[in-house]
Amino acid sequence: MKAMVLKSTSNIRENRKPLQLSDMPEPVPGEKDILIKVSACGVCHTELDEIEGRTPPSVFPVVPGHQVVGQVTSKGKKVTKFRVGERVGVGWIFSACGHCSACLEGNENVCEEFRATGRDVNGGYARFMTVSEDFAYPIPAIFSDVEAAPLLCAGAIGYRSLRLANLTDGEGLGLTGFGASAHLVLKMVRHKYPNSRVSVFARSEKEQAFARELGAVWAGDTEDEPPEKLHAIIDTTPAWKPVVQAMKNLKSGGRLVINAIRKEEADKDCLLKLNYPTHLWLEKEIKSVANVARKDISEFLQLAAEIPIRPEVQEFSLEEANDALVELKEARIRGAKVLRMD
Ligand SMILES: [Zn+2]
Ligand SMILES: [Zn+2]
Repeated sequence: MKAMVLKSTSNIRENRKPLQLSDMPEPVPGEKDILIKVSACGVCHTELDEIEGRTPPSVFPVVPGHQVVGQVTSKGKKVTKFRVGERVGVGWIFSACGHCSACLEGNENVCEEFRATGRDVNGGYARFMTVSEDFAYPIPAIFSDVEAAPLLCAGAIGYRSLRLANLTDGEGLGLTGFGASAHLVLKMVRHKYPNSRVSVFARSEKEQAFARELGAVWAGDTEDEPPEKLHAIIDTTPAWKPVVQAMKNLKSGGRLVINAIRKEEADKDCLLKLNYPTHLWLEKEIKSVANVARKDISEFLQLAAEIPIRPEVQEFSLEEANDALVELKEARIRGAKVLRMD
């Protein structure tokens, strides 16, 4: 089968073709696994972190991709949850131990044996992949394959970060960074918390305009001052400056939720500007979001179908995966990028 493969880590600005088109044997499902014929796979900022070594793969070569939509084409003997022909999705969580306290509490996203799709095992930048039936999800009928793909990561982790933001209707929310995840969060907030006002901090004027178009009451640059102090802010940027700025814009007792698997090092010295009375005092909190639990993915898919959320999608072929990654690195376009297999 055709797959785009990562053989080693490198810097995308220097190596603009980090993935190689390869011909690999089709994977064989184990007893509890389903074999999926992939039809669409979202391209995620986390793939940049894998390629550039901030969250390096534990195996090489590896097929990246963790927002996978496709059809079950065969299954192991012990599979009971899915039938051949059914449409399923796979997200960032590929497996967890199932018996530690985190797993038993439904927080398998922080299990020590957490394995990530497309980083620790082969993912969806390929014609086929296998996964345990316990880590696959039915896709609501209203979505096309390419629409569903970005919901599996950007949407699901956005859902988890909104959950961790502890918002109640009417409280002000900030979003710093306005990519795939944030634009989905804005749509969720408008549905779940119709009286909450959303302020968006984004570098580019295009992103700011897009945010206003989707219902943000205010959109400005990272350093601009919003019209009100915010109850919570969700940060989806790879940088540190927005973290420091966000802490200043929180109300007393407010919470910053950092939704980033890794931060880049470039502007880390911004943290030295952190001033206790302005940025931290008055019981402000910082919380990170780690991965996603299965519950986040399945609940979010239902919510997305109900609203409905239809992500803005830009399609690429499997062979164009490198172009999609370079564009993502250079933040050239709004919405989510998806590889579509032909
Ligand atoms: Zn992702
Ligand atoms: Zn566990």
